[in-house]
Amino acid sequence: METKPMYLIKGGKRLDGRKLEEWRDIEIKTGVIPNADGSCQVNFGKTKVIASVYGPRELHPKHMVMSDKALVRARYDMLSFSVEDRKRPGPGRREIEISKVTAEALRDVVLVEKFPRAVIDVFVTVIQADASTRITGLNAASVALADAGIPMKGLVTGVTFGKIYDEKGKGYMAVDVYKPEDQWGNADVAYARSIATNEVVLLQMDGDVTKEEFFQGKEMADKAIEYTYQQQLKALKAKYEGD
Ligand code: ADP
Repeated sequence: METKPMYLIKGGKRLDGRKLEEWRDIEIKTGVIPNADGSCQVNFGKTKVIASVYGPRELHPKHMVMSDKALVRARYDMLSFSVEDRKRPGPGRREIEISKVTAEALRDVVLVEKFPRAVIDVFVTVIQADASTRITGLNAASVALADAGIPMKGLVTGVTFGKIYDEKGKGYMAVDVYKPEDQWGNADVAYARSIATNEVVLLQMDGDVTKEEFFQGKEMADKAIEYTYQQQLKALKAKYEGD
């Protein structure tokens, strides 16, 4: 068990050497699960997540069928070895909640009316967790949907931001929090948007921030989102250039 550090910012830098507005290395690759209709791996630093998409396909159970649109279902899970102490397999309350918010965020952009009666299944699997897994998973899921050729209003792109403190105990907003900051920081916010529709599709917060701090963090996160979005597009283009 790691011990709580006295502070998370020292000499103006975070404990992993990043500036407050700096995100981790972001890698995005499509087609990582060839048997799926679409797939994508996204790494935000040491957080690594794979999303695979199956569908549109026939929906079971039948009572869930909607005559005018498709159902977008999402299942989020963490592999046992994805965290330091082995995670008990299977979904708990946390996984059920993240699956729900993931599906809701994706339903905002998928053109569900194009596929009445069908289901589009999205599986988000965390291979290695170093915080911000729901957002990393959502970034992967939206690229996997595009990789599957599913029509959407646009991609979904997100970044986590939080509040961390320095040697003097003063709090600062920081973008793309990693595990020590998630665990010992004052607050963290999971935030995802659709750049195409200019809508916020996921917003969840733990902890306390002032209104000013929230908008300061959001402004930093918007810059990181713009960069992440470009990386998502690059990954999708690379697929077609590589074919
Ligand atoms: P998110 O991963 O979206 O930030 P949480 O805030 O719930 O969601 O989790 C923060 C981090 O805590 C995770 O990314 C992971 O690193 C760690 N974590 C979550 N669940 C577990 C668990 N069961 N065992 C160990 N670490 C966990």
